[in-house]
Amino acid sequence: ELATIGLTGLAVMGRNLARNIARHGHRIAVHNRTTSRMTDLIDAFGGEAEEHGGAFVGSESLEDFVASIEKPRAILVMVKAGEPTDAVIDELVPLLDEGDIVVDAGNAHFTDTRRRQQALEEKGLHFVGMGVSGGEEGALNGPSIMVGGSEHAYERLGPIMEAIAAEVDGTPCCTHVGPDAAGHFVKMVHNGIEYADMQLIAESFDLLRSVGGLEPGAVADVFREWNEGDLESFLIEMTADVLSHTDAATGQPFVDVVEDAAEQKGTGRWTVQSALDLGVPITGIAEATFARSLSGHTEQREAARAVFSTTSEADTVEIDREAFVDDVRAALYASKVVAYAQGFDQIAAGAEENGWAIDLGSMATIWRGGCIIRAQFLDRIKEAYADEPDLTTLLTTPYFADAVKDGVDAWRRVVATAARAGVPVPAFASSLSYFDGLRRERLPAALIQALRDNFGAHTYRRTDREGTFHTLWAGDLTEKEMS
Ligand code: NDP
Repeated sequence: ELATIGLTGLAVMGRNLARNIARHGHRIAVHNRTTSRMTDLIDAFGGEAEEHGGAFVGSESLEDFVASIEKPRAILVMVKAGEPTDAVIDELVPLLDEGDIVVDAGNAHFTDTRRRQQALEEKGLHFVGMGVSGGEEGALNGPSIMVGGSEHAYERLGPIMEAIAAEVDGTPCCTHVGPDAAGHFVKMVHNGIEYADMQLIAESFDLLRSVGGLEPGAVADVFREWNEGDLESFLIEMTADVLSHTDAATGQPFVDVVEDAAEQKGTGRWTVQSALDLGVPITGIAEATFARSLSGHTEQREAARAVFSTTSEADTVEIDREAFVDDVRAALYASKVVAYAQGFDQIAAGAEENGWAIDLGSMATIWRGGCIIRAQFLDRIKEAYADEPDLTTLLTTPYFADAVKDGVDAWRRVVATAARAGVPVPAFASSLSYFDGLRRERLPAALIQALRDNFGAHTYRRTDREGTFHTLWAGDLTEKEMS
């Protein structure tokens, strides 16, 4: 009996995804370069699969693996992103038949996905770039799945993926995002938003501790309380758990024994690079990415500490603690609204640039469960796009506009207090500046245009009449109409 689907690459993610698929009653062909991972999986979880009416079909060779799957074959590749993915695809392709579907479920850069999709299409194969969010736990119990590729491929793959995905209010957290690299593009922006979310949470913690005078355990209580309201989300809940954890070896708050240099695997950087190409100001995500870089510059930080005073200005700032805690909550929420609005702008711009018709409301829908950024708040985004599919910006929709209007005074107080206290809040501050930039009647961009025209004859447009102009700055200052 042939397997309904195959999966090669049985490290943590692949293994859990395979178990999840088998638990949903499927016969799944499994393969891994190092055979022991495959046999270990079957030994440990073959029984579990059978209990659920599923089964693993293990193969040592890629040939046998391919031959054990029903046609048209759907084969998930869950290996290390980058060259390993290409290596596996190159090995697979000669073994496949026209109409088979190769699915890259790893964290590929969307431009790699586009390249692979084109190459496989020329060979009569379907290629699907599929974003899977939720880490190990999500892969096992229900991830959020962002599927790219053709409609045809989704018809074969979609039902299985929708069944294994997380579910919220009866709706699976899996959808066909759009053609070619749309799924991986959206997954990338999702990760970028995750960077912003985490940075905002980290800044809130720093403020509550350094300025608010609360110990980590007390900050955990604050986060627990916040998790009862609009901020309710997986990351806020996890923050409360992490902050209340005491290190067994030292008896210190766990957060104090962790080295303060944040690492990254690159998806935040990719998001920012893409945003620069698209010309979309995703300032929250960019600041979050740079904040991680800064934290890792140990030598520069040491050099700065040696030259500048490290005495905290925080002690000189007087606050009413209760009011301050509430201000930080409002600032966090307003900044989060900005970060998501920016992320959705980027998805819209990417869709436009690449000719993908991405339904933005569906992205909010499938992020409500399974993934790291799952949050109550995504329901509001889903509703906003349902009311107005061609939204100019999420920021101005009634619910979010009210959240920002209600929070703006607190937001300003928090950013000002942070500046006075010497506590870095790049994500809070840049989000507030973004908001002020958008709503300002006139921006100093006018001066920039004038300077550009002066030094480089780059021309400018006028507010009082149509046309493009250049002023003879080195001459008699007369103005020439250029077109
Ligand atoms: P890793 O990224 O650590 O990759 C290990 C797997 O890749 C092993 O199965 C390994 O085989 C295989 N592999 C590496 N090089 C080759 C090669 N040249 N040929 C064949 N197989 C190769 O595994 P993860 O499970 O952590 O992640 C898998 C994918 O999922 C990655 O793309 C990752 O970015 C993505 N992802 C990971 C998440 C996570 O939380 N970890 C979350 C979401 C996505 P072998 O056993 O033989 O070494």
